[in-house]
Amino acid sequence: MVVVMAADASSADIEAVVARVEGAGGEAFVSRGVQRTIIGLVGDVEQFYALNLRALAGVSQVLRISAAFKLVSSENHPERTTVSVGGVPIGPETFTFIAGPCAVESYEQTLDAAQMAVAAGATLLRGGAYKPRTSPYAFQGLGEDGLKILARVREETGLPVVTEVVDANDVALVAQYADMLQVGTRNMANFALLQAVGALRKPVMLKRGMSSTIQEWLMAAEYIAQRGNLDIVFCERGIRTFETATRNTLDISAVPVIHGLSHLPIIVDPSHSGGRRDLVLPLSRAAMAVGADGIIVDVHPHPELALCDGPQALVDGDLRELATAVRTLPPLLGRTLALRTGAASVLKH
Ligand code: PEP
Ligand code: MN
Repeated sequence: MVVVMAADASSADIEAVVARVEGAGGEAFVSRGVQRTIIGLVGDVEQFYALNLRALAGVSQVLRISAAFKLVSSENHPERTTVSVGGVPIGPETFTFIAGPCAVESYEQTLDAAQMAVAAGATLLRGGAYKPRTSPYAFQGLGEDGLKILARVREETGLPVVTEVVDANDVALVAQYADMLQVGTRNMANFALLQAVGALRKPVMLKRGMSSTIQEWLMAAEYIAQRGNLDIVFCERGIRTFETATRNTLDISAVPVIHGLSHLPIIVDPSHSGGRRDLVLPLSRAAMAVGADGIIVDVHPHPELALCDGPQALVDGDLRELATAVRTLPPLLGRTLALRTGAASVLKH
């Protein structure tokens, strides 16, 4: 069961609902979204009805939600949510272009990549300081030094930062530096990590597990929402199929399916799905056409020297072509390119 608070509900109103539910032996999880506060109730539904919560001050609706994922469901939440990342919107009106290196390797490499991203029209910077690698012998990322580099590059370019956290114990540290935390494909079902990012007041980008169904993905988001954080952005990054011609198979239909089931935004990662530079532009166009709320793309000043995922990183002409697509296609589909509020001067193209 879910209690939807009125837009003008006070903290005391919210606390009164929580107290009444807890007094009856139930649990109440408060999720403060941009538009309104929702309280998810866990316990005996019939008993909750008897509490007459609808009569309490500041309560707008009391809903019994049939979907297994309650807080992220679009059932009883028809308006689409816009998540703000350091002032850059990700939502239904805009198309958000996130770009940057797969991994933070040095200050110079990250700054160069960020400047490439800005020149191409991106308004958020990606870059991993903690890298979840298949091989323990592969570059694992610079850790906190990498986070410091991202913070310096944000100062320099004005781009808010999206970066991955791989361990629940690192969440507080990564949150000090990041504007949005990324939970990667290998961690989509790491429930301790999901709960830890759920306790933050920072947006989370939740990548789809490479072998996960859409239902499992929604339930993973529910773990984050249930701990109080409704600022979640889904990211479709390709799934494992029998096909070996591409690194993963981009499940483009996940975009309208998620839009039908959840009020949260969804973006596409054409770099990790195709795994090949030549596929990034066509897959990005497909993402725009299918209605994605944005894309997240690997760029690198010297892909041949990249410590991680060089073959899929864009540079030069490929990136210029993507920049053209990002500028021209979203307006045809009724969206504007997402800018940071008050930072229009960052974009000069
Ligand atoms: C990444 O975006 O750097 C990454 C590791 O992606 P994924 O979790 O989708 O493999
Ligand atoms: Mn990568």
